[in-house]
Amino acid sequence: MDYRKRFFVRPGTQLSLAAIDPAFAGEHTSSSSALAEIQRNVARMDELQALLYADGNQSLLVVLQALDAAGKDGVVRHLFTGMNPQGTSVFGFKQPSAEEAAHDFLWRAHQRTPARGQVVVFNRSHYEDVLVVRVHDLVPKVVWSKRYALIKDFETMLVQNGTRILKFFLHISPEEQLARFKQRLEDPARNWKISEADYSERELWPEYVAAYEEALSRTSSKSAPWYVIPANHKWFRNLAISQIIADTMAGMGLKLPPTRVNLQEVTAKYHAAAEAQNQRAGKAPKDCGKT
Ligand code: ATP
Ligand code: MG
Repeated sequence: MDYRKRFFVRPGTQLSLAAIDPAFAGEHTSSSSALAEIQRNVARMDELQALLYADGNQSLLVVLQALDAAGKDGVVRHLFTGMNPQGTSVFGFKQPSAEEAAHDFLWRAHQRTPARGQVVVFNRSHYEDVLVVRVHDLVPKVVWSKRYALIKDFETMLVQNGTRILKFFLHISPEEQLARFKQRLEDPARNWKISEADYSERELWPEYVAAYEEALSRTSSKSAPWYVIPANHKWFRNLAISQIIADTMAGMGLKLPPTRVNLQEVTAKYHAAAEAQNQRAGKAPKDCGKT
């Protein structure tokens, strides 16, 4: 199944999250049947990241958005750990610092966008400024409602500058969220993840759904697509996202840069160096014995 088609939020349509089953898993019935495919996709992503780096003309920006405990961190851990750290970064967007809040809302995001050759993952992003900010009335509606157009312009500018943008909303059910909160309570290794805000934010679920539906409907485009990823099953979430990223990177027309040297000349130099090395190696035992 081509998940790029299946989960794409079509521009000009009104997204209804209620119509998308968060427990969807396609033809797969368990993690074991999906695992081999995930591993293949991750291996493709790693190879393509090396090629993106070598090519040096384009970049990739992956945006992850979700309600609490939907698995943004899991996506980063499972899908991006194989990539070369030299060309990959992850940024988590928290409440803005005083300096960030003193600038326009896109300022901090723009500082983190990928340079050519780089992959950057946004764990939360500039979209918080039409999500949490809207839900909590942190700025008046007249301010946040203008931000959809500003975000589109910002992303268009990035795309024109050679950045591919992929945006994923991890879609879980309230029941699944509660089950994960329970795991965090019961597993000492996960206790540190608990935040009291998780419970107050959960109370605002319908407000967040409305904010997400509007944000995704208004800012999904062919060049900066949003995908709604069913995420109740962590393995399916990983499968769908890894396939979409690998297929997108494969379609970027990445190529190795041309050789910068005359290969014939360098081959001759190599043979001369190898010959000299052999000669030195032949003498080495005598030299060693004398000193
Ligand atoms: P986890 O899923 O592990 O809890 P998290 O991304 O929720 O990770 P937290 O430190 O719990 O990380 O929360 C970061 C908080 O910062 C979120 O509640 C988010 O809504 C908030 N935040 C991010 N950007 C903004 C913004 N522009 N304005 C206000 N709040 C923001
Ligand atoms: Mg949180």
